[in-house]
Amino acid sequence: MAQENVNVVARIRPLSNETNDETCIKIDPVSSVITLTTNEKQFHMDKIFEQNAPQEEIFEYIQPIIAAVINGIHGTIFAYGQTGSGKTHTMIGSDENHGIIPRSIEMIFIALNEQSKNRKDNFKFKISCTVLQIYCEKTYDLLNGNEKIEIHSRDILKNAKEVEVKSSNECMKILKCGLEKRKVSGTLMNETSSRSHAILTLTLKTEYFKENKKHERISRLNMVDLAGSENRNHTNNNKTQNFEGANINKSLSTLGQVIREIINPFPNQVISYRSSKLTMILRDSLGGNSKTTVIVNIHSNSKYATETKSTLNFAVNVKNVKNTAILQEFITSKETLTLKAEVQRLGGEIDKL
Ligand code: ADP
Ligand code: MG
Repeated sequence: MAQENVNVVARIRPLSNETNDETCIKIDPVSSVITLTTNEKQFHMDKIFEQNAPQEEIFEYIQPIIAAVINGIHGTIFAYGQTGSGKTHTMIGSDENHGIIPRSIEMIFIALNEQSKNRKDNFKFKISCTVLQIYCEKTYDLLNGNEKIEIHSRDILKNAKEVEVKSSNECMKILKCGLEKRKVSGTLMNETSSRSHAILTLTLKTEYFKENKKHERISRLNMVDLAGSENRNHTNNNKTQNFEGANINKSLSTLGQVIREIINPFPNQVISYRSSKLTMILRDSLGGNSKTTVIVNIHSNSKYATETKSTLNFAVNVKNVKNTAILQEFITSKETLTLKAEVQRLGGEIDKL
C-alpha cells in the first residue's frame, strides 16, 4: 500500500496560426521540462506529449491506470486547461480518432470478457456507468434528462442514475447520448466550448472463487473533461457567460485551493473538499484512495502565455499530491455465503406467512 504522487502529463496542441503567433514555451522531452520563454521559468512534468503525438500514444501512457481499475483499484483521469487547448480532443476525441474515454472503455470490456472466457474460477463481471455535469455549481444527471441532483459527500453517486452496460458499444452510445445534453455556449475562444465539467464514472464489479471463498472487487474509474480554466477577461463574454464563468471558476479555484491545502497544510488543516461540487466528486482522486493522472492541455500561442503559465503552475502543484490506492476486494467465506443464503431463504418463508 504505497503512497504515489499524482501523475502529471502535459499535452501541447498544435499552434493556431491565424495570426502567425509564436509559441511561448520551450520543451525538453527528455527531461520532461517546459520552459516559459517570457521569464525562463521551468516546470517539471512526468511526461510531455508534443503537438503531433497521436491519441494512441497518450492512451498507451495512461493504460496502467485502466489495468489497475480492471484489477480492483480506483482510478481517475482528468484533463485541465483553457478552452480550446484540447481537453475534449484528449478525453473523448472524434469518431475517427478516439480519445482516452472510448479507448479505456474498449480495453476494459476486452480484458474482462477475455477473463470470463479463460479463467477457471467462476469469474464474473458487471459494469455500470453514470454521467454527470457540473454547471454553475449545480450537478445534473446527463443519463436522466439532465435533471438536477443533489450529491452527498459520503456517497457521491447515490442519487445518480446508474446504467448497466454490456458492451463497449452500448457504453459509448449511452455516453454520447448523455454528452449531447451537455451545456455548451460559444465564446470568442472556441465556438463550441464546453462551459461545464463532465464526469463519467464507470463502476466495475468482479467476482471469483478461490479456496471456497468468494472474492468481490468493486473499483471505480472517473474520467473528467473539465470546463475551460481561462481568465474570463480574455473572452469578452456577455453577462450570462460571465455568471457561468464565475461559477466555473469557483469550482476550478476550489480545486486549486484543495491542492494547495493538501501539499502545504496548516496544522490540523481540514481540506476544503466540500467547498465545491467538483472537489466533492474528486475527493478520493486527490489525496485519497485512487491512482490519478492529470493531463494538462496547453495552447502555447504567445497570446495565451498567461493561461499557459497558470496551467503549468496548476500542473506542478497537483504533481505533489500523494494518493494511496488500495485494492477494493471483499472476501466472503463459504460458511458466510451459506448463512447468507439461509437468511435470504428464511426471509422468503416469512414473507409467505
Ligand atoms: P477544449 O475541450 O479544451 O476546449 P478541444 O478539444 O475542443 O478543446 O480542442 C479545440 C480544437 O483544437 C478542436 O478543433 C480540436 O480538434 C483541436 N485540437 C486540440 N488538440 C489537438 C491536437 N493535439 N491535435 C490536433 N488537433 C487538436
Ligand atoms: Mg471541451
